[in-house]
Amino acid sequence: MRIYLDHNATTPLRDEVLEEMARVLRDCHGNPSSVHAEGEAARAVVDAAREQVAALLGAAPGEVLFTAGATEANNTALLGLLRAGGDGRRRQLVSSNVEHPSVEAPLQTLERAGFRVTRLPVDGEGLLDPDRVAEALGPETALLSLLWANNETGAIQPLREIAGWARARGVPVHADATQAVGKIPVDLRQLPLDLLSLSAHKLNGPKGVGALWVRDGRAVEPLLQGGPQERQRRGGTENVAGIAGLGVACELARRELPERQRAWAALRDRLWEGIRARIPRVARNGSAQHALCNTLNVAFEGAAGEVLLQALDLEGVAVSAGAACASGSVEPSPVLLAMGLPPGRARGSLRLSVGHGVDAAQIDRVLELLPPLVERARARRAA
Ligand code: PMP
Repeated sequence: MRIYLDHNATTPLRDEVLEEMARVLRDCHGNPSSVHAEGEAARAVVDAAREQVAALLGAAPGEVLFTAGATEANNTALLGLLRAGGDGRRRQLVSSNVEHPSVEAPLQTLERAGFRVTRLPVDGEGLLDPDRVAEALGPETALLSLLWANNETGAIQPLREIAGWARARGVPVHADATQAVGKIPVDLRQLPLDLLSLSAHKLNGPKGVGALWVRDGRAVEPLLQGGPQERQRRGGTENVAGIAGLGVACELARRELPERQRAWAALRDRLWEGIRARIPRVARNGSAQHALCNTLNVAFEGAAGEVLLQALDLEGVAVSAGAACASGSVEPSPVLLAMGLPPGRARGSLRLSVGHGVDAAQIDRVLELLPPLVERARARRAA
């Protein structure tokens, strides 16, 4: 039996999700835009899912726009909002230096189109200083876009406070909530946000489907043109089964959130306490206080993260190294470097993220496996 501790990369499908998707694929073949009974049945599936997503977020169903995942939602939020025009004098964008590439790349596109981008630094725990964000916002700011919970460290930004500052200055706020939804409570009635991105596959739904929430009254230009779907905001026949799967995943998250937080935090803490007790020269990366319940990022001094990842994989354990392989060389994680970690420590870091299906016995098995593997990885690096 494999042990999967990479739930921030993607999550396994819940049985309830799979069953609903299978039912829709089998029984609802209509096009939601068709006016006959088959079309109406498919339309009803999409509408029901929209309500389930909205209920999890504390939003109105009409504000939820289905996409092919968070990458598309983020691109639509940034490019779509700015293409919709608005105040031509607002030519500055404010974001952070730890954004996911699906925000950073559109920021660069907008930069090339003449926008000035302010990328605020995070501190050693991966957190933004709300005062510095407030200082960066001005009459020229067109949008503030922030990653709510970091995919690598799990650090949760003080979004409510930051968004309050932005609202007071008339600046729209977009949150990439891909890692937050399903792990922390999200209530858009209470949060001064304007746009929010999420992805089904991070909360036990299918890959290739997600949503962008756009507060009523905000306009976004479609990225995909050529159809009236999603109230003219996203052309193309809907991914009906995927959307149904996202709906069920959101429904499960809404019902189970407190229990998930308790169970996943207990597993994460068991893992960290066990690592700390068994292995010398380890450190936790990112805020321990303001962190996702499921995420642990650990630096193993003197070891290479990718060596540990491969050794664990051979033993049946899936984790992630805080590093990406680019053209054969392993680069330390830009997120960890942005937090001020020395490159050596960043290279020796692993991300372990728990979720549905992980239990205490699996954590204990990983705690048995890790010490000798870390010792070997350290010896290899020293050699
Ligand atoms: N934002 C964050 C924070 C993510 O972790 C991811 C997925 N790695 C994305 C956006 C992109 O999501 P998707 O895979 O649905 O395009």
